[in-house]
Amino acid sequence: MNDAHIPSPDAIALVSASPDAVLLLSPGLTVVAASEACLRVLGTCRDDIVGRDLHQALAGSDSLDALVASANAAMRNGQPHHMAPGLFRTATDWHQRLIEVLSAPVVVGGVVQGVLQQVKEPLRPGEGRAGRRAVEEALQVAEARLRSIMRTVPDAMIIIDERGLIEALSLTAERLFGYTADEVTGKNVSLFMPSPHREAHDGYLERYLATGERHIIGIGRIVVGQRKDGTTFPMHLTIGEMRTGDKYTFTGFIRDLTDQQLTEARLRELQAEVTHMSRFTALGEMASTLAHEINQPLTAINNYLRGCHRLSQRLEGEPVPALQDALAKAGDQALRAGQIIRRLREFVARGDSERRVENLPKLIEDASTLALVGARENAITVSFRLDPRAEQVLVDRIQVQQVLVNLIRNAFEILMDSTGKRELSVETQLLDDMVQISVADSGAGLSPEVRAHLFQPFVTTKQKGMGLGLSICRTIVEAHGGRIWVDNRPHGGTIFRFTLRAPADEAEEAKLGQ
Ligand code: ADP
Repeated sequence: MNDAHIPSPDAIALVSASPDAVLLLSPGLTVVAASEACLRVLGTCRDDIVGRDLHQALAGSDSLDALVASANAAMRNGQPHHMAPGLFRTATDWHQRLIEVLSAPVVVGGVVQGVLQQVKEPLRPGEGRAGRRAVEEALQVAEARLRSIMRTVPDAMIIIDERGLIEALSLTAERLFGYTADEVTGKNVSLFMPSPHREAHDGYLERYLATGERHIIGIGRIVVGQRKDGTTFPMHLTIGEMRTGDKYTFTGFIRDLTDQQLTEARLRELQAEVTHMSRFTALGEMASTLAHEINQPLTAINNYLRGCHRLSQRLEGEPVPALQDALAKAGDQALRAGQIIRRLREFVARGDSERRVENLPKLIEDASTLALVGARENAITVSFRLDPRAEQVLVDRIQVQQVLVNLIRNAFEILMDSTGKRELSVETQLLDDMVQISVADSGAGLSPEVRAHLFQPFVTTKQKGMGLGLSICRTIVEAHGGRIWVDNRPHGGTIFRFTLRAPADEAEEAKLGQ
């Protein structure tokens, strides 16, 4: 089909003035005329559609393809074609209207000059006001149905629009987060998340709408949620999206993982990784301590053997050479034992660490999700204050998570014994080329005997403790080029702080080293 035979000016004038809701298309499907009544049905003005290609004039309409097919069928068969009611919108209107279309070919002297389309709203039981009432009633029913679903659905559900504003909230979600639907409707959904997601959420949505890249939609992930009282909890979030025309709606389905056993695959995986590493590092730490302890007697043995050898040189007689040979061999063996131990220490010091640039907030989120299971039941208020400039660190993710899990779990355990306020906070801060991470608690503080030997292995006040956690933390942090120390909190409690390198520094160093 081409536009060689565009409709005559008479036909255009006739259609434009028609009291019926009609529009005229050229054979190439350009809208060449539209009556006032047609513009009303479509909810548009002449300039928005006349002179435009049909695809462009009604872009975004669900039933555009069917309309094009109907026009082409009418022209091809020379017969009117009736299309079932479909959804249409124009470029200036998001709202889609249900419209019925009859396409009739315009044939002059056996030549197809275009197609005339009659548009109308489909007949409803009782036209006019009664029809509108029926639509309103249907809408009310739909709304009431949604409300009743939101009241009864056992899942926590949150519906948001494309700007992230809350449209509806299920009763379970109200209970879970501690807000009523009235309080939060129209507000940004980021209020259900702790930093850094709270600040970043608009960006996540914008990125998705711009790129279509899915990070969570349809995938589901374990994230941290924040209640009205400021406490946080691990939750599993799945997001579904719905598109009507160009408008997006997102529905979040949330499962609170606080009470659940750690059955979620991700959590289990994370836990397996961290515990495996913990055991491995604990073993290393023990080996290192043992190596240090054994090395001293070995050196002493070696010295004594050398002394014996010297003394034996003053002796005479037949057994002397055999004695000297035995002493030399014993010396060799002591040396060999020393070498084995040195190698073991080197291996432990080096570890099997694999460093990459990691996202610090994400790393903290994963570690806290794991370490904070049970925080709510024990009325522990957890807060995160993460420096947006401290986004990246060059680390072995699992090792650093292990440090965080250790510190957070220690804080958690001390808070369990506390009868006062139970506050735990995790903070990050960029300081020159280092990132400082701190884990603070409002617990009883360190006992003096522990404080004197802090970060040394086998120091514990816990019945089931091994006293290896903090010494492992120190080994890991120092292997990363950082430092770990402890401070008293001004109003009681303890703050553990450690530093890690920010990646820019590493990159510069790598360049210098070349
Ligand atoms: P473990 O947890 O096996 O005892 P750690 O090396 O992790 O081993 O901790 C050593 C000791 O340090 C603990 O037993 C505890 O007495 C003390 N400790 C650690 N963190 C804290 C804290 N946040 N507040 C008070 N004491 C702490």
